[in-house]
Amino acid sequence: MEKTKLKKIIPKWKIKVKVRQLGKRITKDYKDKNPILVGILKGSFVFLSDLIREIKIPHEVDFISVVSYGSEKKASGVVRLLKDLSSNIEERDVIIVEDIVDTGLTLNYIRENLLTRKPKSLEIVTLLDKREKRKVKIPIKHIGFQVPDSFVVGYGLDFGENYRNLPYIAKMDERK
Ligand code: 5GP
Repeated sequence: MEKTKLKKIIPKWKIKVKVRQLGKRITKDYKDKNPILVGILKGSFVFLSDLIREIKIPHEVDFISVVSYGSEKKASGVVRLLKDLSSNIEERDVIIVEDIVDTGLTLNYIRENLLTRKPKSLEIVTLLDKREKRKVKIPIKHIGFQVPDSFVVGYGLDFGENYRNLPYIAKMDERK
Protein backbone atom coordinates (compact mmCIF):
# COMPACT_ATOMS: atom_id res chain seq x y z
CA MET A 1 0.00 0.00 0.00
CA GLU A 2 1.17 3.54 -0.76
CA LYS A 3 1.73 5.74 2.29
CA THR A 4 2.20 9.48 2.09
CA LYS A 5 4.58 11.22 4.43
CA LEU A 6 4.82 14.97 4.78
CA LYS A 7 8.01 16.75 5.74
CA LYS A 8 7.76 20.42 6.69
CA ILE A 9 10.24 22.46 4.64
CA ILE A 10 9.04 26.06 5.14
CA PRO A 11 7.47 26.90 8.51
CA LYS A 12 4.54 29.25 8.99
CA TRP A 13 6.63 32.06 10.52
CA LYS A 14 9.03 32.14 7.56
CA ILE A 15 6.13 32.44 5.14
CA LYS A 16 4.70 35.27 7.21
CA VAL A 17 7.99 37.20 7.20
CA LYS A 18 8.42 36.68 3.46
CA VAL A 19 4.86 37.70 2.59
CA ARG A 20 5.33 40.87 4.63
CA GLN A 21 8.53 41.68 2.72
CA LEU A 22 6.85 41.06 -0.63
CA GLY A 23 3.91 43.26 0.37
CA LYS A 24 6.30 46.05 1.33
CA ARG A 25 8.11 45.80 -2.01
CA ILE A 26 4.86 45.95 -3.96
CA THR A 27 3.64 48.87 -1.83
CA LYS A 28 6.85 50.75 -2.65
CA ASP A 29 7.07 49.80 -6.34
CA TYR A 30 3.44 50.63 -7.08
CA LYS A 31 3.10 53.81 -5.06
CA ASP A 32 0.63 56.16 -6.81
CA LYS A 33 -0.52 53.32 -9.06
CA ASN A 34 -3.56 51.10 -8.76
CA PRO A 35 -2.34 47.63 -9.75
CA ILE A 36 -4.51 44.59 -10.43
CA LEU A 37 -3.28 41.47 -8.70
CA VAL A 38 -4.21 38.43 -10.72
CA GLY A 39 -4.29 35.23 -8.70
CA ILE A 40 -3.96 31.96 -10.55
CA LEU A 41 -6.55 29.57 -9.18
CA LYS A 42 -6.69 27.56 -7.22
CA GLY A 43 -3.27 27.28 -5.64
CA SER A 44 -2.49 30.97 -5.15
CA PHE A 45 -5.59 32.00 -3.20
CA VAL A 46 -4.04 31.60 0.28
CA PHE A 47 -0.85 33.44 -0.69
CA LEU A 48 -2.84 36.19 -2.43
CA SER A 49 -5.16 36.72 0.52
CA ASP A 50 -2.23 37.14 2.92
CA LEU A 51 -0.25 39.23 0.43
CA ILE A 52 -2.95 41.86 -0.14
CA ARG A 53 -3.17 42.45 3.59
CA GLU A 54 0.49 43.51 3.48
CA ILE A 55 -0.06 45.90 0.56
CA LYS A 56 -0.80 49.39 1.80
CA ILE A 57 -1.81 51.10 -1.44
CA PRO A 58 -5.07 50.90 -3.43
CA HIS A 59 -5.22 47.84 -5.66
CA GLU A 60 -7.71 45.44 -7.23
CA VAL A 61 -7.87 41.67 -7.23
CA ASP A 62 -8.93 39.34 -10.01
CA PHE A 63 -8.56 35.65 -10.76
CA ILE A 64 -7.80 33.44 -13.69
CA SER A 65 -8.10 29.69 -13.73
CA VAL A 66 -6.40 27.31 -16.10
CA VAL A 67 -6.05 23.59 -16.33
CA SER A 68 -2.79 22.13 -17.46
CA TYR A 69 -3.01 18.74 -19.05
CA GLY A 70 -0.77 15.98 -17.85
CA SER A 71 -0.65 13.77 -14.81
CA GLU A 72 -1.45 15.18 -11.37
CA LYS A 73 2.21 15.85 -10.70
CA LYS A 74 3.49 16.62 -14.17
CA ALA A 75 2.50 19.52 -16.40
CA SER A 76 2.40 18.94 -20.14
CA GLY A 77 2.38 22.54 -21.29
CA VAL A 78 -1.02 22.16 -22.93
CA VAL A 79 -3.16 24.65 -21.09
CA ARG A 80 -6.89 25.40 -21.26
CA LEU A 81 -8.53 28.51 -19.84
CA LEU A 82 -11.25 27.61 -17.31
CA LYS A 83 -12.07 31.05 -15.95
CA ASP A 84 -11.03 34.33 -17.47
CA LEU A 85 -10.44 37.65 -15.74
CA SER A 86 -13.49 39.77 -14.94
CA SER A 87 -11.58 43.02 -15.52
CA ASN A 88 -10.23 44.71 -18.58
CA ILE A 89 -6.46 44.99 -18.05
CA GLU A 90 -5.67 47.25 -21.00
CA GLU A 91 -3.34 50.05 -19.83
CA ARG A 92 -3.37 48.65 -16.28
CA ASP A 93 -0.46 47.61 -14.07
CA VAL A 94 -0.86 43.89 -13.65
CA ILE A 95 0.83 41.64 -11.11
CA ILE A 96 0.40 37.91 -11.64
CA VAL A 97 0.39 36.07 -8.31
CA GLU A 98 1.39 32.42 -8.57
CA ASP A 99 1.86 29.72 -5.96
CA ILE A 100 4.68 27.77 -7.59
CA VAL A 101 6.58 27.89 -10.85
CA ASP A 102 7.80 24.49 -11.95
CA THR A 103 8.43 23.99 -15.69
CA GLY A 104 7.04 27.49 -16.23
CA LEU A 105 4.76 26.29 -19.02
CA THR A 106 1.51 27.26 -17.28
CA LEU A 107 2.74 30.70 -16.30
CA ASN A 108 4.21 31.27 -19.74
CA TYR A 109 0.83 30.57 -21.31
CA ILE A 110 -0.92 32.97 -18.93
CA ARG A 111 1.71 35.66 -19.37
CA GLU A 112 1.54 35.49 -23.17
CA ASN A 113 -2.24 35.52 -23.04
CA LEU A 114 -2.40 38.58 -20.76
CA LEU A 115 0.22 40.44 -22.79
CA THR A 116 -2.05 40.33 -25.85
CA ARG A 117 -4.49 42.48 -23.83
CA LYS A 118 -1.96 45.31 -23.74
CA PRO A 119 -1.46 45.97 -20.04
CA LYS A 120 0.66 48.99 -19.13
CA SER A 121 3.00 46.68 -17.21
CA LEU A 122 3.07 43.03 -16.25
CA GLU A 123 5.09 41.58 -13.42
CA ILE A 124 5.09 38.19 -11.75
CA VAL A 125 5.36 37.29 -8.09
CA THR A 126 5.56 33.66 -7.04
CA LEU A 127 5.74 32.24 -3.55
CA LEU A 128 7.75 29.20 -4.61
CA ASP A 129 10.17 28.47 -7.39
CA LYS A 130 11.35 25.04 -8.52
CA ARG A 131 14.08 26.37 -10.75
CA GLU A 132 15.67 23.03 -11.62
CA LYS A 133 12.61 22.00 -13.57
CA ARG A 134 12.25 25.14 -15.69
CA LYS A 135 11.59 24.53 -19.40
CA VAL A 136 10.85 28.10 -20.51
CA LYS A 137 12.48 31.33 -19.47
CA ILE A 138 10.05 33.70 -17.75
CA PRO A 139 10.88 37.03 -16.12
CA ILE A 140 9.84 36.66 -12.47
CA LYS A 141 10.13 39.86 -10.47
CA HIS A 142 9.71 38.45 -6.96
CA ILE A 143 10.34 34.95 -5.67
CA GLY A 144 9.48 33.96 -2.11
CA PHE A 145 11.46 30.76 -1.75
CA GLN A 146 13.39 28.31 -3.87
CA VAL A 147 12.20 24.76 -3.30
CA PRO A 148 13.84 21.47 -4.24
CA ASP A 149 12.61 19.34 -7.08
CA SER A 150 9.98 17.43 -5.15
CA PHE A 151 6.23 17.71 -4.90
CA VAL A 152 5.17 20.23 -2.27
CA VAL A 153 1.83 20.92 -0.59
CA GLY A 154 0.30 23.33 1.90
CA TYR A 155 -0.50 27.05 2.07
CA GLY A 156 -2.92 26.69 -0.86
CA LEU A 157 -1.03 23.98 -2.73
CA ASP A 158 -2.81 20.67 -2.98
CA PHE A 159 -2.41 17.06 -3.83
CA GLY A 160 -5.73 15.70 -5.06
CA GLU A 161 -7.46 18.74 -3.47
CA ASN A 162 -6.04 17.90 -0.04
CA TYR A 163 -3.54 19.76 2.16
CA ARG A 164 -4.39 23.31 0.97
CA ASN A 165 -5.15 24.22 4.59
CA LEU A 166 -1.69 23.47 5.98
CA PRO A 167 -0.20 26.71 7.34
CA TYR A 168 3.29 25.62 6.20
CA ILE A 169 4.88 24.15 3.06
CA ALA A 170 5.66 20.45 3.19
CA LYS A 171 7.42 18.07 0.87
CA MET A 172 5.60 14.87 -0.04
CA ASP A 173 7.41 11.60 0.10
CA GLU A 174 5.75 8.54 -1.23
CA ARG A 175 6.65 5.29 0.37
CA LYS A 176 5.53 1.98 -1.07
P1 5GP B 1 4.36 24.44 -14.42
O1 5GP B 1 3.51 24.73 -15.62
O2 5GP B 1 5.24 25.57 -14.01
O3 5GP B 1 5.15 23.16 -14.60
O4 5GP B 1 3.36 24.08 -13.24
C1 5GP B 1 2.73 25.06 -12.55
C2 5GP B 1 1.53 24.54 -11.82
O5 5GP B 1 1.66 23.14 -11.50
C3 5GP B 1 1.42 25.25 -10.49
O6 5GP B 1 0.63 26.40 -10.60
C4 5GP B 1 0.81 24.20 -9.61
O7 5GP B 1 -0.59 24.24 -9.75
C5 5GP B 1 1.32 22.89 -10.17
N1 5GP B 1 2.52 22.42 -9.45
C6 5GP B 1 3.79 22.40 -9.89
N2 5GP B 1 4.61 21.90 -8.95
C7 5GP B 1 3.83 21.62 -7.88
C8 5GP B 1 4.09 21.09 -6.57
O8 5GP B 1 5.21 20.76 -6.18
N3 5GP B 1 3.02 20.98 -5.75
C9 5GP B 1 1.75 21.31 -6.11
N4 5GP B 1 0.79 21.13 -5.23
N5 5GP B 1 1.47 21.81 -7.33
C10 5GP B 1 2.49 21.96 -8.20
